[in-house]
Amino acid sequence: MRRYVIFAVAVVLSAQLLLSCVPAPQAFEQSEFIMDTLVSIRAYGKRAPQAVQAAFAEMRKIEALASAYSSGSDVWKVNNSPGQMIEVSQDTLEMIKLAQQVSEQTDGAFDISVFPLVQLWGIGKKGDYVPTDSQVSAVVASVDFRKIRIDEDKSLVGLPESGMGIDLGGIAKGYAADRAAAVLAEHGIKHALINAGGNIVVMGGKPDGSLWRVGIQDPRDPNGYIAVVRMNTGTVVTSGDYERYFIKDGKRYHHIFDPRTGQPAGAGVIAVSVTAPTSAQADAYSTALFVMGVDNGMKLVESLPEIHAIFVTEDGEIVVSSDFPDVKLQN
Ligand code: AMP
Ligand code: MG
Repeated sequence: MRRYVIFAVAVVLSAQLLLSCVPAPQAFEQSEFIMDTLVSIRAYGKRAPQAVQAAFAEMRKIEALASAYSSGSDVWKVNNSPGQMIEVSQDTLEMIKLAQQVSEQTDGAFDISVFPLVQLWGIGKKGDYVPTDSQVSAVVASVDFRKIRIDEDKSLVGLPESGMGIDLGGIAKGYAADRAAAVLAEHGIKHALINAGGNIVVMGGKPDGSLWRVGIQDPRDPNGYIAVVRMNTGTVVTSGDYERYFIKDGKRYHHIFDPRTGQPAGAGVIAVSVTAPTSAQADAYSTALFVMGVDNGMKLVESLPEIHAIFVTEDGEIVVSSDFPDVKLQN
């Protein structure tokens, strides 16, 4: 484990791309608002326009399955049918299975049954609303990933009690970015980058043969970077307390909850960036590690050879897991 101190005054965080100055030939780029976030896809090659359209269609499909708010979605059906097993698509099942694995591994720091908390707090929807402790504890009683029922063979998912609910917000963007990359590849695309609001996926290096450079933004300085990760093909996903939050009486309330307390997670971390074999994994782990904090989180990361992480603490310390590939800290 390496520790560095930065002196940056901490305000906003999301992974951003440092783009090459030389425009590559036959580039096609488009942006759409999907899953409450601006998604940009850039691909290179003659078939790039059709490939990018197909990738967006795939991401919209995942959104339509995973949204807890669009009536008729897989997640909506499960949430609105307590006591019943509901048939879901393979994509939804994949997301829920992966979520459950990460929940087991993180002792419930990641928990997709946080939906009742997401609704109670309404971060970004209810203004600067802070629920009472008794409201929070009443809702925390309904949060427990172990109660989610899954029948893999029949592709069924169910919740045993009313008041429970699933929210795939901590994993769906990464999963959708993986699917978008797969669709691009199916269309013969060799070089591409996907930026789904801080979930970055890159493919095949840049067309000129150089590596993609993924900049990780300083969580408290929208114009500054804490690190640059160079990669040919891969993903970097960041979770941060600046993405959706409000400040009341000097305290920051953000959208990543500690499932045990029902409060916005307060383990001293303000951002975590993760690289992993898939963007869905990186997404789930970044949310989980944010909740776990540096000490517990780093212990877990160091035990998982394919997962690497960069933590930024509220004191401005940057902590990088020992074998994070090709990362360069700024300053
Ligand atoms: P991310 O930006 O990927 O860290 O995901 C944050 C989103 O995941 C929130 O907006 C919630 O929808 C959901 N969420 C919040 N807390 C958790 C948690 N502890 N485990 C799983 N999902 C969560
Ligand atoms: Mg996440």
